[in-house]
Amino acid sequence: MGCVACFQSYKFQNELKRKSFSCHDFLSELEQYKQNYMNEVLALVPVNLCGCMAGTLDSGFIDWTNSFMSDMKIDLQLIEGVFDQLMSVFKTERIDANAAKDDFKAIIKQYEVDLLVAPQVMCNSIWYRGRPLGSYNPQDIKELFHIPFSKRGFASCLRFNKQNEPTLYFGSSILAVEKELSTTLVDLNIGAFAPIYSIYYNKKIFDFRNILFETIQKSLPAIFSDGMKISYSDKHMSINSQSIKTDLARSIIYEVCTFPVDPNGNGAKEEYTLPNILSDILRDLKFIGIQFPSTKSYIDLVDEHEFSRHNINVVIFVEDNKMSDIDIDRLNSFRTYAVNGSETYSYTLKDIEDMMDVLRTKFIASSKGRALNDEKIQTANIKLHLEYMKHSKINGVDYYDSITGKTELEFISKLLIDFDAVV
Ligand SMILES: [Zn+2]
Repeated sequence: MGCVACFQSYKFQNELKRKSFSCHDFLSELEQYKQNYMNEVLALVPVNLCGCMAGTLDSGFIDWTNSFMSDMKIDLQLIEGVFDQLMSVFKTERIDANAAKDDFKAIIKQYEVDLLVAPQVMCNSIWYRGRPLGSYNPQDIKELFHIPFSKRGFASCLRFNKQNEPTLYFGSSILAVEKELSTTLVDLNIGAFAPIYSIYYNKKIFDFRNILFETIQKSLPAIFSDGMKISYSDKHMSINSQSIKTDLARSIIYEVCTFPVDPNGNGAKEEYTLPNILSDILRDLKFIGIQFPSTKSYIDLVDEHEFSRHNINVVIFVEDNKMSDIDIDRLNSFRTYAVNGSETYSYTLKDIEDMMDVLRTKFIASSKGRALNDEKIQTANIKLHLEYMKHSKINGVDYYDSITGKTELEFISKLLIDFDAVV
């Protein structure tokens, strides 16, 4: 028994998808997931009977979620239809890749999925990449950038890139990098990349997440608990009774494209077929990348703030202009940091917070004004990240006392020292 808030959560959907793992081929898994999804919709109960959000049960919130729940139950045919459309694209891809792309494009147009553009101000933080230890120079940031074009044969098919297609995958925290690479810092070299806001502010990054969950579990409780009333039928609010079909369809596209890989599956990485086509279409639509919440389990992390963005993956596409072995323009769009041997990993969270305080005073006093926007926005976003994570624990240890957290602080200190030099 669950309510709409539980049902839409990343955790619940992830587990629901994993329940179909025994089917062994992706199409059967998807069919099973569709059936499970619809059965769960039919069994949904009002939030006040669920118990998951006991602290936030304003009567307006109950009304809103009840209306939303009944619409979901009425829209069962739409839900089935979106699943079937996506399964049809998957089947078509096996015989005609171009036709599959056209079919997926039509779905994107139908539900205006291309409107999901991430707010650049939010993206502008510090991103990390990890590379397994090996016989290369970890102090050379190029070694931590994308696979060189001359070695594209080493680029395996991942969720948002095809085989032989070098692509940049970042994590929004070092923990996210460890999770994605299914290993720990002991086996990794790390590079940090801080996107330069003045280069990225007018670029499109696709914002791939379950907006239904984010609205119901994060935004609405905050709005209602502040005594504000909003109506489910108010079409000026997103989500509402008129946008529900589009919002539902988008959330299903999101769930299907972030289907976890079945470790006992047939090894064909069929889970990546649909997101691969999607990223192809997004490139055509002039998106430069995609951000999406990790599909990995973060069960060992507790007490992070519910708004924390520690588990975000960012994919940035690179262009082979045949002039260089790596995308130099893309590399130059970041402030980059590799290790240089000076690291002590001894910064505490307090040290970094103090550095930020000093920096903030200098920002305010500086006569450079708008010329420091890049640095100001990035500092504010990193500060938010630290605040959201400061009470979290990983395997029982405070995150910023763990080697993962300490490494993050070390790279943040490098960025702040650079900011201090230009302010
Ligand atoms: Zn619930």
